[in-house]
Amino acid sequence: MNYIIMDLEWNQSNTGKEPEVAKLPFEIIEIGAIKMTENLEMVGEFNELIKPRVYSEMHHITSKLIHLKMQELERGNPFEEVMKAFREWCGDDYMFVTWGPLDLTELQRNIEFFGVEPLSDGPIGFLDAQKLFSIAYEDQKSRKALEYAIDLLKIEKDIPFHRAFSDAYYTAKVLARMLVMDRTVVRYISFDTYHPPKTREDEIKIQFDNYEKFISRAFDTKEEAFSDNEVVAGKCYFCHKNLKKKVKWFTPNGKNYYSISYCDKHGYLKGKIRLRKTSDDKVYVVKTTKFVNEEEVAKIVQKRDHARELKKKNQLHMREKNAK
Ligand SMILES: [Zn+2]
Repeated sequence: MNYIIMDLEWNQSNTGKEPEVAKLPFEIIEIGAIKMTENLEMVGEFNELIKPRVYSEMHHITSKLIHLKMQELERGNPFEEVMKAFREWCGDDYMFVTWGPLDLTELQRNIEFFGVEPLSDGPIGFLDAQKLFSIAYEDQKSRKALEYAIDLLKIEKDIPFHRAFSDAYYTAKVLARMLVMDRTVVRYISFDTYHPPKTREDEIKIQFDNYEKFISRAFDTKEEAFSDNEVVAGKCYFCHKNLKKKVKWFTPNGKNYYSISYCDKHGYLKGKIRLRKTSDDKVYVVKTTKFVNEEEVAKIVQKRDHARELKKKNQLHMREKNAK
């Protein structure tokens, strides 16, 4: 297996008035990538400009950031052609590596928009080097700029930043450094869910050091998702026994949902659900479950009570309003 360390540059609308804005908010204008073996040898380079078709001028922020002019992009090839060459260059046995979680999503959105053959019809496992860097050197949560990582690891800055190829090259350097230090860091795999799981069998359940992640298939409605047993119930991920619900699923903001359940043997588990929308307006669920102490439990109970109070107030307010 090879690592394909990839970086994309994209452009967006200056005016927000183009009819394509909703379907293609970010048009890819450059793909850069490094091919690296599992022995950390860089064995290939990919570096291509893409001729823009949707946004004909450069976004004012993009142009400052990435030092690319429209005249240069005119020399690029159409997205379809670059993608075909890129797929061939990637080969059959590889894993994508990116700095941050966005590139694979935008790549797949461009693939769909331009009618190119999809990379996959389900989730794609990849390594988010920015996340791995945070786990290896920072607080596991913060998201640092690539240049920050390069400085911290004292990697030589021999080419300029903020072009697809150079950023892929620096990401490869950071990845190599992390793998030398700890080969098992690759267990922190991420999943791009531009195409969520299709069936129950395709659903993803993966255990990390201190939490479990579950990605459901797509449902037509939120209600349907929340009536699925695997979504709302689940089992203790240590002993696989059924759990007792202590705090039922609730949401403080309509976006994230929380619950507390209890395993007789292993204690309290906090569940967190994020509802996500697919590009065709279905919903799927990303759920994380982790063991928590009583202090954390009390915090969740407080959060629930606060959400209840707000709801009551809102209802009262609506009733008063309707009465007028
Ligand atoms: Zn248990």
